[in-house]
Amino acid sequence: MKAVRYHSPSDVRVEDVDTPTPGPGELVIRVGANTICGTDLRIVRGLKKKGVIAPRILGHEVAGVIEAIGEGVDAYSPGDTVGICPTYSCGGCYQCQRGRVHLCENALVLGHQTDGGMAEFIRIPARAVADGVVVSYSADLDPAAAALAEPLSCIIHGQRFLNVGVGDTVLVMGGGAIGLLHSALAELSGAHQVILSEPMEFRRNLGSQFGVSLAVDPTQENLEELVLAATNGQGADVVIVCIGIPALVNQAMSLAAKHGRVSLFAGFPAGEMASVDPNLVHYRELTVVGSSNSTVPDYQQAMALLETGRIVVDPLITHRFSLEEYDQAVETISAPDAIKVAIIPTP
Ligand SMILES: [Zn+2]
Ligand SMILES: [Zn+2]
Repeated sequence: MKAVRYHSPSDVRVEDVDTPTPGPGELVIRVGANTICGTDLRIVRGLKKKGVIAPRILGHEVAGVIEAIGEGVDAYSPGDTVGICPTYSCGGCYQCQRGRVHLCENALVLGHQTDGGMAEFIRIPARAVADGVVVSYSADLDPAAAALAEPLSCIIHGQRFLNVGVGDTVLVMGGGAIGLLHSALAELSGAHQVILSEPMEFRRNLGSQFGVSLAVDPTQENLEELVLAATNGQGADVVIVCIGIPALVNQAMSLAAKHGRVSLFAGFPAGEMASVDPNLVHYRELTVVGSSNSTVPDYQQAMALLETGRIVVDPLITHRFSLEEYDQAVETISAPDAIKVAIIPTP
């Protein structure tokens, strides 16, 4: 089969590899779509080397159809449409033993330590199948939309720490796919206004389809003034940082209301520091939280939101390419009208 395989940052090839067959307890899925994520780009640009074992088929946002079933697997049938929660936990480490399987110390992440979705087929190991990482969805959903259950599951996970509720003002900094999905979920959770800060016009314009009530260009407008004006001078109850720029950390805290919650949802460049005014946290009683990965229940809930149309992600999928067009797909991600670029292995 054809696959996009990472050998080193300057060497990512579209090549022929053996087509997987399922061993006992395993599944083989025909990939319907794999959406490319910022983490994939960090890998191919050499910015993320830790934990990526070469050679490796990339891709962790995957949906497709069950092609073949290994001995002893009863919960699925050939032809089922499924998405994959991409973190395979070990079950035995300190974090797993305490129920925090998404923080597993020995996790195998799809497209990092185990082969991912930028291929015609993908094999799911028995332990992951038993843990329920393969989640069925209605065949009506576009596989590229179903692939976005992965980022949405991380957003559901991240907002669990923020308790967004009725009456909250939520400020989202960064309007890529992650920021727009955060906006949509915040609105669904009861936020009465969602403010999006995003320099790119195309992304700001998409905001209204994702629950955004006010979209601000922070390079042309005064974000602080606009947030204060929209909140009777109080600031935002919840601020979610979706771009990994360290200087935004203090700004996010300064835009939060008293007793506000701030999420550092984005990953930041390794080793870089952010300077913050600790009195913002102290006097305002701020809660500052992080979030990493998601669990199978987060993923199931994400898929349910997509299946029921409570969150519609189709406007985010701006481009589609075949496996052979992988280089072009990666280039396209930087285009001003690109949000999510999908690889469709068998168009
Ligand atoms: Zn991702
Ligand atoms: Zn573990």
